[in-house]
Amino acid sequence: MQRANASCTRCDADLEDVDHIFRQCPDSRSLWLHFRRSLPSLDNHISFDAWFLGLLRHRECTLGVAVLWWMWRWRNHRAFDGNHWTLNQILRNILRDVALWKKVMLHQPAHHSISATSSTPSITTGTVRLTTDGSWDPLLNQMGCAAVLWAGNGDWQSAISTSAGPGSAFLAEIAALELGLKHALDLRISILECYSDCLHMVTMLQSGSDTSTYWARDNITRIRSMMARF
Ligand SMILES: [Zn+2]
Repeated sequence: MQRANASCTRCDADLEDVDHIFRQCPDSRSLWLHFRRSLPSLDNHISFDAWFLGLLRHRECTLGVAVLWWMWRWRNHRAFDGNHWTLNQILRNILRDVALWKKVMLHQPAHHSISATSSTPSITTGTVRLTTDGSWDPLLNQMGCAAVLWAGNGDWQSAISTSAGPGSAFLAEIAALELGLKHALDLRISILECYSDCLHMVTMLQSGSDTSTYWARDNITRIRSMMARF
């Protein structure tokens, strides 16, 4: 373990060693807690080295490394540039990087999801806005899907992203909307507005459209069924 002489630039603790930067500093702990459902706990009873080795063997090690990477960048940004990124900015960057890294790494069909939810308790009250985005890499034939929930005042509330295996650009948009709707239902949101930049999907979802012979009719039916629950 390397030790630094300076105190912590974020919380003024006397010693900012590697364990403090990643496991003890309150900012780092609050960031880690956003992913507590997916990542191992910040076990203080074992050394940092042992804990880090365990993280590398964890099924969500990609997420864990992304969180540590952004903890480090967050700390440096504050220490050297004097600015303070918001937690929402960090969370968005982590989710974006993990989706990107998994898409690049995956050469076989697989499904990996990660999510993060704000601690703000307003998630189930009032109108919530859902924005979704799907992407498809034609070289790897892999889809990536992401969905973000926003409160009425514009605050980020929750986000989820997943790799969705082979498909197409349009199927990725559909899968992203399905992912977001399911996430909203899991969080017991009752009033939801959906936004997508995929006009074709919006047209297909309009109630007047006949999709009985459409190749993606099963997806459309599932989405309509979920939308009816809001
Ligand atoms: Zn600190």
